[in-house]
Amino acid sequence: MPIAPATSAPLGETLEALHRDAVARPSAGRVADYIPALATVDASRCGIAVASLEGEVVTVGHAETGFSIQSISKVFSLVLSLQRLSDGLWSRVGMEPSGQPFNSIVQLEWEHGIPRNPFINAGAIVVADTLVSHFSASRPAFLSFLRKLSGNQRLMVNDDVLASESRNGSRNAALAHLMKSFGNIEDKVERVLDHYFFQCSVDMSCADLARSLLFLANRGTQPHSGETICSRRDAHRVNAILSTSGMYDQSGQFAFSVGLPAKSGVGGGIIAIVPGYGVIAAWSPPLNAHGNSTTALWMITRLAGQLGLSIY
Ligand code: GLN
Repeated sequence: MPIAPATSAPLGETLEALHRDAVARPSAGRVADYIPALATVDASRCGIAVASLEGEVVTVGHAETGFSIQSISKVFSLVLSLQRLSDGLWSRVGMEPSGQPFNSIVQLEWEHGIPRNPFINAGAIVVADTLVSHFSASRPAFLSFLRKLSGNQRLMVNDDVLASESRNGSRNAALAHLMKSFGNIEDKVERVLDHYFFQCSVDMSCADLARSLLFLANRGTQPHSGETICSRRDAHRVNAILSTSGMYDQSGQFAFSVGLPAKSGVGGGIIAIVPGYGVIAAWSPPLNAHGNSTTALWMITRLAGQLGLSIY
């Protein structure tokens, strides 16, 4: 069902005003520093982009500047894995919200190495394992997928972030080894982590992200190319899990106040899917205690309210 934004103002003006108010707010939150390279980013950066199914991309602020996509990569890796594995994935990773921090380890032992969902780190590491097993070279395959979806052939991995993640990845290594002990990681843990750190370390802008994910707002098909990226059923499933689990242990509050499938990353980006309309991507590095960008969250909440975009 296409959604008509509930405002008569042109989208560009609405976004300009929103961005002006966002940067005028007192700053709140802290830039992620558990991956030291992420702490070097300019905390005052702030951008928002909206891509519509009609092909319009409206950008404001630093919406064309690349930043570390981090956990937003989990959406792309899940879709790429579903292209290869289809239903096979769902015996190895669940579809329930975890209610726990994104890198929590406690639930995983109780639940015999089956992560609650593909958007917490443990789940994304299982998805990474499927990519490593199914592609002869999973990292270039992942990057080509992003380049194709965004139409931006210059997308690159950020080598400093990659090296920093790899050096400081003990908790992710612990998750992977625990799952390996339960038989839920097939490949070598080191190879799986190499892929996982790689996918998190790609730089993309808000405009790149919004354009790339349009297929999820369009039942699986990229509107500009007409290419089917995933089935209508998988688009439904990915959006459903984004709605319940994409914002970690703040997903319930986000559904309550915004009502859109969404995914955040500790680089400060948040994407939100508006089925039948388009994709919103916002970026500002300082994070709240859940690892979600305070200002990107504020901008998306306000925009969704102004335009009446909730799916509920
Ligand atoms: N690369 C980060 C990690 O593994 C991703 C986490 C995130 O963006 N929430 O910790």
